[in-house]
Order: sequence, then C-alpha cells, then structure tokens
Amino acid sequence: MVGTQTATGAQTEQTSTPKEFKNYINGKWQPAKSGKTFQSINPANPADIVGIFPASDKQDVDEAVAAAKKAYEDWRLYPAPKRAEILFRAGQIFIERKEELARELTREMGKVLAEARGDVQEVIDMVFYAAGEGRRLFGQTTPSELRNKFAMSVRVPLGVIGCITPWNFPMAIPSWKIAPALVCGNTIVFKPASDTPLVATRFVEILEEAGLPPGVLNLVTGGGSAVGDAMLENPEIKLISFTGSCDVGRHVNEKCAPSFKRVSLEMGGKNATIVLDDANLDLAVDGILWGAFGTAGQRCTATSRVIVQKGIYPQLREKLLERAKSLKLGYGLDANVDVGPVINESSLKKIEKYVQIGQEEGAKLLFGGQRAPEAGPGWFFQPTIFDEVKPNMRIAQEEIFGPVTALIPVSDLKEALHVANDIEFGLSTAIYTKDVNKAFEAVRDLESGLTYVNAPTIGAEVHLPFGGTKNTGNGHREAAEACLDIFTEWKTVYIDYSDKLQRAQIDIE
Ligand code: NAD
Repeated sequence: MVGTQTATGAQTEQTSTPKEFKNYINGKWQPAKSGKTFQSINPANPADIVGIFPASDKQDVDEAVAAAKKAYEDWRLYPAPKRAEILFRAGQIFIERKEELARELTREMGKVLAEARGDVQEVIDMVFYAAGEGRRLFGQTTPSELRNKFAMSVRVPLGVIGCITPWNFPMAIPSWKIAPALVCGNTIVFKPASDTPLVATRFVEILEEAGLPPGVLNLVTGGGSAVGDAMLENPEIKLISFTGSCDVGRHVNEKCAPSFKRVSLEMGGKNATIVLDDANLDLAVDGILWGAFGTAGQRCTATSRVIVQKGIYPQLREKLLERAKSLKLGYGLDANVDVGPVINESSLKKIEKYVQIGQEEGAKLLFGGQRAPEAGPGWFFQPTIFDEVKPNMRIAQEEIFGPVTALIPVSDLKEALHVANDIEFGLSTAIYTKDVNKAFEAVRDLESGLTYVNAPTIGAEVHLPFGGTKNTGNGHREAAEACLDIFTEWKTVYIDYSDKLQRAQIDIE
C-alpha cells in the first residue's frame, strides 16, 4: 500500500499498481476484445487510481448479448422460487461484506461512509425484496363470461434486458434493476457508469458467487456511446432499463423508438421542499441540510429548491446558513466528514457554471459558491445556498447535481404549490407544516412521483414504488411490486373445456 494523506487527515487506499479488472461475459472474466482500458479514480484524491477496467465496444456488447440470449432459454424455465434462492444467497453475502463494500464505494464514488453503507443496505433490501417475489409473481384468475371456460393472466419474462446505470448510487441502482429482472426470468447485459465500474464489478462477483449460471448476468464496462449505443442498437435486447440524465434518457428513447424496443427511464429532478410558517423550523432545517448537501447534492432526489413562506423565511435562512457553515468537507472515509467530493472535474465545472449563472441572473449568493481545495486534492465544492431566488431563474429550473440549493420566498401554500409544480421535472417533493389540512392539500396537488410530509426529499424505501412524473420518467415505477410491470409482460390465457365453439360477446346465455 502506498498511502496518501488527504487534507482531512484520512488515509486513501492507493495501491502501487492498480489492479486490472475484466468484463464478465458468459460466466468468464475477460478483457475487452480491443484490449483497451480506462481508469477509475478516487474523486477525493485523483492520484489514487481505484482500478483499470475494460474500455469495451460493440464487439463485447454483441458477445454479451449472445451469451444472455443463449442463457435465457434455460433461465426462463428455471423455477422462479429457485431463481430467488440465488438472490437470497447473494443477499446474505452482501450482508457479510457490507463494510468492505461500503468502504470501496466511498473510495470510488466519494459519498461519506455512512451513506455508502446505506447504498449497500439498499442492495440488501432490494435483493431480499425481489427474492420474495420468487414465490409470488402473482397473476390474476377471473370468471369467464362463457360457461366451462377458465380465464387467467400470468407474468412472462421479456428476454434479454439491457441495464444502464449512473454513478451516484453505484450499487443500489443496479440492484433495483437487476434483482427483480432476474427473479422474473430475464437475462441481463449490465453497463455501469464509467465513474464507478469497481462497485459494479463487486456486485456481479457476488451474484456469481451466489450461484448465478453463466450468461444470465453479463457485465460490460466502458463509455456511454461505445457500450451504451451498441446496446441500444442490438435487436436482441428487448428492454433498456435506464437511470441517468434527461439528455441521455432522451437519446435512449429516440434511439430505441424505431425498433419499438421497450424503454424504462428514471431521470433527473429539481426537487422542492416547501416550508410553511407553522413548520417545526429545526426539523425543516435538518431535512433541508440532509436533502441538499447529503451525497454532495448528487442525488436525483436532492433538495435543490427550498420554497419558504415569508413569515418564517428570515429565521430559516439564518439557521440554514449557520448549519451549512458547520459542515465539514473531506474524504468520506474520515469519520468526522459530512460532505464528500463531487464525482469528477466536469461535474465541478458544471456546478461552477451554474453558480455564475445564478449570480448573473441576480440571485444572492448567501454561502459557498467556490471550490474547496482545503478539503483535499479531489473535486470538492462548498455547500452553496442562493437567497432570494426567483422561481423562473435557471438555478431554480435546471438540474445542477451538486451541493447547491435555492431559497425561494412565497406568500402562501397556493403560491408554494404553483412554484413547486412550475418545473419540467417531477421526482420528489416535501412539505414541512403542522397543519394536517395543508399537508393533505400538498400531498394531493404536488406533481411528483414521491411526496414527503415533515421529512426530506430523500429517503425512499424499496417496497414502495419509486419514480417521477413529467420529464423525470416515462411512466414506469421501479421498486415495489410496480417494477414487475417493467420486467415482465402479461400473457392472458383462456382455457375452454366445453368441447364446443363458444364465441365471446356473441354466445350469451
Ligand atoms: P448520465 O446520463 O450521464 O449517464 C447514465 C448512464 O448512461 C451511464 O452509464 C452512461 O455511461 C450512460 N450513457 C451515456 N451516454 C450514453 C449513450 N449514448 N447511450 C447509452 N448510454 C449512455 O447520468 P449520470 O451522470 O451517470 O447520473 C446523473 C443523472 O442521473 C442525474 O441527472 C440524476 O438525476 C439521474 N438519476 C436519476 C435517478 C432516478 O431514479 N430518477 C436516480 C439516480 C440518478
């Protein structure tokens, strides 16, 4: 080990020669056909190379798809409760390795260790939840309108599925797709984000160890267009399950449209927390701080807008400022760090650009707005709060995906709801109030897939549907029973045991 000391005093885990990892295709670990590679880097310390990974292309994707297609023929017939047993075994391994996985996750992605543990815990939750479906996957039986005729519907798998995932929940999000897709009887080609291939590799290693047959789950690492586009173009992939930005999601949708490939899209957010005059102020500040600056603001559900009723606005601004000042930036493995780095240099530049845009638009920079080199050699940015933001400013409309939040003053609940909804996204919203009538009105009228009352915009649990309205998604929901509608399709079955021709809608007796 060659240790590197960060400014916060934590030791990064740099090895002298970074390990080379491989794709996983048809049960074998193998390099990219081209032999090309890329590096994964610790965002808290760019000198720390986490690993070297295959820079794959169409050849690798096509081989993985062919393997998944072949494996599908048997996997779809392997009983669902048996498929689930493999997931239960995997869940147990995730529990045993939680700590080491979380530490690697922090090193590769940057979120602080407590949050990294949460990421792995979400995998455990999802894997067990999906495994439970192995003995459910319920269909329906219903009376037929004709005598001596039986009617039912059953769920059938789709075939080969392409899973394309982002880096911000590098283990949890793959699990939300892969675990239910597997239990439903599909086989998979998995392309993780290029910033977090190690965490993805660990995820696949554990499923292999749990006993997944060769070809059922295939990992192909590499760039968005080299690997991603090859997946979108491959006719044998029946569904692309995508989580990421709206821009790439739109590309995925357009590229899959001519072949009618199914597409499920989970995309960006610009999530609002409303704070009414009667709110518990300290509770609201706790929630805003966690929602806006947890994971350095890099959550699809991050609190990037705070819509505050004028009576409480000055106190809320003061308390939030005071608390934001006390947040400690640094390497996520350092126990007293609250906020880690952002993922890479281009992300940092995008955040800087929006800070400049906000100032040019006339918003007041209350706190932050700068890089934070004192936190370490990596990509650190100060928690940033804009004050007196107008709802139509770009910093209040566009996803920044960093530790930046905008305070927007409003007069009453009606205006707050209008501001919250006047946006192209619809992922998560929250309201802080003690008035049950106002809370229910907000629950009814907020245009988002998730709404929290007296809790922050982040905090989803795997047994409830997850997803967004408007440009955040295309109508699907992940997690819970709802995700089965993504990974299966319905087959309706009629069994006529009357021994004669019976015509529906015509032979009515
Ligand atoms: P991104 O869109 O840049 O990348 C997502 C994935 O798409 C990556 O694996 C990337 O390599 C791949 N990709 C890039 N170009 C591609 C192409 N041409 N064809 C196919 N695939 C391609 O997003 P990101 O920066 O990794 O993640 C951040 C974004 O994800 C934010 O917008 C965030 O809101 C969103 N997100 C949404 C949810 C949700 O559930 N709604 C959850 C997490 C993150």
